[in-house]
Amino acid sequence: MRAPLRAAAHALLALPALACAASRASPSGPIAEPAAPARLDDVERAIARAVDAGHDDALALLERIVNVNSGTMNFAGVREVGAVLRSELDALGFATRWVDGSAFGRAGHLVAERAGSGPRVLLIGHLDTVFEPSSPFQRFERLGDGAARGPGIIDMKGGDVICVQALKALRAAGVLDRLTIAVVMNGDEEHPGEPLAAARAAIVEAAHGAVAALGFEDGDGDPRTANTARRGAAFWTLRSTGTPAHSSQIFRGDVGAGAIFEAARVLDGVRARLAGQPFLTFSPGVVLGGTQVALDAPHNQGTASGKTNVVAKEAVVQGDLRTLSPEQLAQAKAVMRELAAHSLPHTTSTFEFDDGYPPMAPTAGNRRLLERYSAVSRDLGLGPVVEVDPMKAGAADVSFVARLVPMALDGIGLAGADDHTDRETADLRMLAPLTKRAALLLYRLGRER
Ligand SMILES: [Zn+2]
Repeated sequence: MRAPLRAAAHALLALPALACAASRASPSGPIAEPAAPARLDDVERAIARAVDAGHDDALALLERIVNVNSGTMNFAGVREVGAVLRSELDALGFATRWVDGSAFGRAGHLVAERAGSGPRVLLIGHLDTVFEPSSPFQRFERLGDGAARGPGIIDMKGGDVICVQALKALRAAGVLDRLTIAVVMNGDEEHPGEPLAAARAAIVEAAHGAVAALGFEDGDGDPRTANTARRGAAFWTLRSTGTPAHSSQIFRGDVGAGAIFEAARVLDGVRARLAGQPFLTFSPGVVLGGTQVALDAPHNQGTASGKTNVVAKEAVVQGDLRTLSPEQLAQAKAVMRELAAHSLPHTTSTFEFDDGYPPMAPTAGNRRLLERYSAVSRDLGLGPVVEVDPMKAGAADVSFVARLVPMALDGIGLAGADDHTDRETADLRMLAPLTKRAALLLYRLGRER
């Protein structure tokens, strides 16, 4: 997933390198393992027992894949983690394949499919982490109190393990065949390959015909919440021009206001129109202006030169635009274009957009899926699950398929804290309960027709 606060304004050519760490709540206390009597049928009890029986294997699998460095640009490591998870899915009877990533400059993705008698569901993981081989943070480490630290342990190798172990439990209980299942684990969630359409083609294809998409991201780290919505992140560049002249003549009828005043007018106009709209943020991140500007767009940097006694000829600004729905994004762009069009005398302004990650809107379908997940949680004695405030949720791979499926839910991976930092910590006591929740949700989806 994508960090709403850490990503600077991004260029037309560059997507943010750092995804995932949404503003994170401190780790909640673990949900007590069933305090209330569980309300499960016989099959559900068998699934829960299978999760418990597989707990040591789950921990071993998690430790194994955390100890393989899979920073996005460490292609060999990403492939190795993919190979480990692929063999787990092969053993469950999935048809698995590796989607080569050379067309988009990344390692590639793991795709697994298994036909069954019931509805199709899409399960989403990712193989990469933000910790490249140059990071000092490389190893799984047990801490006291059922916790463990490690690179990617919750974002999202823990979620990958929950996904695989839930499927194993369904098979052990004899009900895996009741669903048609696609699993997509991308190798470049944290630093997506480009072109983005190519990098996300496999997951989009896998979503077709699915009744639900489940993302095993760590969400906001709190197991009492899940994501029904994620804001999208679009990137924009504003270019303004002016008429150079002696500064003493600025504002004269044939000189006008210059490029810098024009860019300032547009920015402040957009601020006045868009600031305060729920779930929308518009933020300029870098600005250059003067007689000459040179923008290094992919790195969000550049140089500007001018004279204090010359009216500015050029200005360029890069920033981002975060919205909760495609409609809100379209409206915001329309406002920005409209404001840019009404230029000061002898100036021009134009916006260019790069849509980046689309929004996952909080649809009624997503909330229905959350209700089902919450019902499972209550029936397990684990209490209700509520939705994350979308202001705290950056984009993730589920965002690319949310529009294509009737129901989507994310953030049902492993609980913990501090992802994207060298303190990334998992609450291992939650591994089995969260796996049961996922497995039972899948089982109940398989019962529906
Ligand atoms: Zn992630």
